[in-house]
Amino acid sequence: MAIIIDGKKISQDVRNEIKEKALHLKEVRGIIPGLAVILVGDDSASEIYVKRKENACREAGFLSKEFRLPADTDEKEIFDIIYKLNRDETIHGILVQLPLPKQINPESVIEAVDPKKDVDGFHPYNLGHLFTGDAFHNSCTPSGILELLDRYGIEIKGKETVIVGRSNIVGKPLAMMLLKRHATITICHTRTKNLSEVTKRAEILIAAAGSPEMIKGNMVRQDAVVIDVGINRLGNGKLAGDVAFSEVSKKASYITPVPGGVGPMTIAMLLMNTLNAALI
Ligand code: NAD
Repeated sequence: MAIIIDGKKISQDVRNEIKEKALHLKEVRGIIPGLAVILVGDDSASEIYVKRKENACREAGFLSKEFRLPADTDEKEIFDIIYKLNRDETIHGILVQLPLPKQINPESVIEAVDPKKDVDGFHPYNLGHLFTGDAFHNSCTPSGILELLDRYGIEIKGKETVIVGRSNIVGKPLAMMLLKRHATITICHTRTKNLSEVTKRAEILIAAAGSPEMIKGNMVRQDAVVIDVGINRLGNGKLAGDVAFSEVSKKASYITPVPGGVGPMTIAMLLMNTLNAALI
């Protein structure tokens, strides 16, 4: 039976460490890390995420500013807020909650954020510099996955690592970050042929496809480390990951549950990026 990676506990550990560092920063240098969150429209899932981020900021002793704008806001209004925040010395991180309403181009909005304040790590400057090794910030979910592997003492170097999913926010940045840590990487996607032949090679298998329980026991190598990024809301209201947990956990050496695995790490890493932004 696999060891279950406790993302809830690790994320709380990380958040406690950040709180201590923030207190120290305030005492020694008089700096309070500040995060601004821009929410456009009334998407209910986004509302929940933004609330969680604000609460996490408060708990860590950060300054938290929120901008709630109606769904029919035009791009210019958002740019004006971002440009102001780019110059605001009390704000170190700026986050635009996605998805945005249709009339707004998310790429231009993300590009308007100062890369030093892009604590989501989505700005092309930061994504590009992931390749060369000196991005200001890395994407939060991939960073959270690395943090989980490190805190469980799971070696990455030289490991045959397969990622299912090639999105710009998870699969692609994660591949680069693992490559930097000397893993051998394969990225799979919807056009990958013989998916299970590829996933079966993985010593570390990361599922980030958004397809409920698509990774079955017979797709996993014995003793693989299995990281499930998927968060899928089922018809019955329950959450499911991308991994069929009950069968895969019998074969894996380590596995993340859903919920309580990768999910809670994302906010912890957002706080970490904001703290680091305050130090730039
Ligand atoms: P996305 O839809 O942008 O990308 C999914 C990727 O998976 C695509 O590249 C697609 O080619 C691939 N894919 C989909 N079905 C596949 C299949 N059957 N076989 C092979 N490849 C397949 O999704 P995303 O934004 O990267 O998110 C992926 C999942 O991770 C979602 O469930 C999302 O909710 C979850 N997620 C969780 C967190 C978190 O834990 N904090 C953060 C981001 C995303």
